[in-house]
Amino acid sequence: MKKILIQILFLAFCYPLSILAQAQSPNQNDGADPKYRLVAWNIEHLAENNGEGCMARSDQDYEKLRNFAGTMNADVVALQEVESVKAVARVFPENEWEIVLSDRPSSGSYECRGSGRPSTQQRVAFAVKKGIPFEKIEGFKELALNNPGLRYGLVIRLTGASEPIEVMNVHMKSGCFVNDYSASDRDACETFEQQVPILDEWVESKVKEETAFVILGDFNHRITTPDNRFWEDLKDMNGNQISIQSSMESIRGCHPRYPAPIDHILLGPKSSKLLVEGTQDVFYFGMTPETMTEDDMLSDHCPISVDLWLNEPYPVSTAVRWTQNSAEYKLITEGLYSKAVESLAEKNICDPWVVIMDVDETILDNSEYNRRRDKLGLGYTPESWANWVREESATLVPGSADFISNVMLAGGQIALITNRDRTLDQHTWNNLKKLGLPITRVNTCLIGRSKEDIDAVGEKGIVNDKDLRRQNVLNGEALSCWNEFPEVKSAWNKKFILVMQVGDNIKDFAKTTQENVDFKAFLKRQGVDILILPNAMYGSWD
Ligand SMILES: [Mg+2]
Repeated sequence: MKKILIQILFLAFCYPLSILAQAQSPNQNDGADPKYRLVAWNIEHLAENNGEGCMARSDQDYEKLRNFAGTMNADVVALQEVESVKAVARVFPENEWEIVLSDRPSSGSYECRGSGRPSTQQRVAFAVKKGIPFEKIEGFKELALNNPGLRYGLVIRLTGASEPIEVMNVHMKSGCFVNDYSASDRDACETFEQQVPILDEWVESKVKEETAFVILGDFNHRITTPDNRFWEDLKDMNGNQISIQSSMESIRGCHPRYPAPIDHILLGPKSSKLLVEGTQDVFYFGMTPETMTEDDMLSDHCPISVDLWLNEPYPVSTAVRWTQNSAEYKLITEGLYSKAVESLAEKNICDPWVVIMDVDETILDNSEYNRRRDKLGLGYTPESWANWVREESATLVPGSADFISNVMLAGGQIALITNRDRTLDQHTWNNLKKLGLPITRVNTCLIGRSKEDIDAVGEKGIVNDKDLRRQNVLNGEALSCWNEFPEVKSAWNKKFILVMQVGDNIKDFAKTTQENVDFKAFLKRQGVDILILPNAMYGSWD
């Protein structure tokens, strides 16, 4: 035992204090969006040797842990309850990972509940993927309150981001699971109460010096329950609220018996801005919340993770924010559409009649696509756009659904002439259906753009790339309306009266371009037989 102890001390104290790795990390090479995946994992008494400690494991158990760990695609893993560097290396092999262990001295062993075996040491450690530049700054021994039975924190600084990010790994005192630690006289809560101001002070110092920081690990505390005292304390700074968020704010913990999470990844004000939206996650050891049982768990806690951008995402443009957030946009589109409904009601229309509508920013609101691209500092690309169309998650332009319903009720048909690629028409159709529009192949014909439409520009009567399709529809010659649905041929294979054209782009109107638009005539026609909607995000003006 003594020999092992000396070995542990050697490993603990002789680890280099500063590690600066130079190579590129894999995540930095995967395109325009370099990011780090941070994981917190209480790995449950990870011992160096088989069959030792409170969670005695076999070769096979270590192999399972190692295989699973590989699937997390982690860059930085904050571990709790590890015995030594060697123990960590059994799961995170040292040819792939840099391991940093807390320099907490060994404490006395206790008898494990159940097995009666002597416990192994409980330290926190980081496993950092080789190639990710970082420095070890300190073993945060203050959290141990000079008590040999308590665990140190451990801080590293990730230096590969646009600004360094300080990451603290903690394993707080267990046993104080009440909502207000200060109101309990349990021993564990009294210890916890002493740890809180230390962590709080560290948080406030980082906020004051404007350092990006993350605190992650096993807090042994249900921070995300409403009015949790510890969480309130952390967020309060001299009476002001600081913006700290927990990765688990809207996620259940994984343990079937303890769904309120006690493991958290806390992001400070600056690191919150680096969060890759929607990446807060819990790993169910390769299973799902529905299928995983307690017996399937490789440790009594599941790892949790977030992804952080290395660089603060680009700002979202005014145009996108206006579209998504302003009352004005909704009022303008809704107002224009309702005027168009009134205008339809006043018309004397002979059958068969059609309204020709554009789709994007006319019926479908794609501001979410534009927002995502803005945040990446990237613009439109045909590939990213096609992926967005395939996602079928565009929302409705306010007022459009009501207008479409009114056209249908009045006995009209609608031709949707869109410059989405024709090969994606089914996705466009699905998206429109998902939004509950009353479209059928009889009352609505959707025609995306093909090469033929572009090539036709310049031919007689074809001024813009929608003119060919418009003419075909009006002449009853738009084969695309019934090619795949022969049963609706009679609905479309006839000449139509064009009652209204609706779009957000000047080219959505017959024979019109930015250059040739007749302003006087268009002003008279607006709301009568044409309807021009606002789109500040993109257009043929750009
Ligand atoms: Mg459009």
